[in-house]
Amino acid sequence: MNRHLHTMRAALAAFLLLACTWAAAGAVEFLPGEANTKGILEEEARFHLHAFQNALQHPKHAPFVNDENLMGKLRDHTLRSTVARVEYRYNGARTPRIYHARSGRSIAGTLRWIADAGSSAGSDSTSGSEGGWAADIEEDVAEARFYPRLGANEVRVAARPHVGSRLRPFARHGRDAELKALRELEADLNKAIIPPGGELEIFVSQPPCVSCTQAITQFADTYKLRSAVVHHLTSTKDVPAARWSASQKAYSEFFTGRRTLINGALVTGRVQAAGFRSETEALGLLEGAEGFQSGRMKVGKSACVP
Ligand SMILES: [Zn+2]
Repeated sequence: MNRHLHTMRAALAAFLLLACTWAAAGAVEFLPGEANTKGILEEEARFHLHAFQNALQHPKHAPFVNDENLMGKLRDHTLRSTVARVEYRYNGARTPRIYHARSGRSIAGTLRWIADAGSSAGSDSTSGSEGGWAADIEEDVAEARFYPRLGANEVRVAARPHVGSRLRPFARHGRDAELKALRELEADLNKAIIPPGGELEIFVSQPPCVSCTQAITQFADTYKLRSAVVHHLTSTKDVPAARWSASQKAYSEFFTGRRTLINGALVTGRVQAAGFRSETEALGLLEGAEGFQSGRMKVGKSACVP
């Protein structure tokens, strides 16, 4: 069985090699991720969840936080969102530049989408007009303050306009985590913050869709990457546990752990701020929150703003 699968894979690979001469420069390797990938993605999931927790501290979101129906949908939505970490190594730099991404809209956009008409089963990664995107991009950028602080060579991926990007994904997948991360990386290349020709490593919580696969291949080709590897977890859907691969096991553990984390954090009426090194830093965030009015908290502006 395995052998047969191997032969089929080899045949398919050979076919793709012949068919895809346009992608000759950078062959992208797709590998089912295991325990290491799971560990990295758990960190990613926590990072993005913390931002939601912090954003939900704003008094304007109190009606949402106190509504069990909406919070249930948010928990479900959060569990289904894709997280991705993109690492870019270049010119013998000791550590890679790291990009942290999640699929979907801005935090405020997500809450609005759920409150308005959002179905917990749907994906908000795949819909929306370009006009709606512009507003969402603006909100997403402004939400930088809700994310835990990162190291000097790390980037929280924000949504970006299509303009100026050489990546041409299928329009419906513009909010996928991998694509957003590649756009951010591309912007850094265009600003000469990092040079082209580096090594790309992507960790993502599910196998990339056709659109993202194409975008990754195109990216590797356009920016003359020396190598590109995608480590993705593989869903356990419809597979008996006894036949799980190490990647499916890692996915299952990731999913279960993430659900526990989300259920503990997005509790109706009781969402706590998260991801700060100190109370002062947390206070700084609350003060920075637009329109936050509380006599007790009106003290000097925190120096923790990046
Ligand atoms: Zn995708």
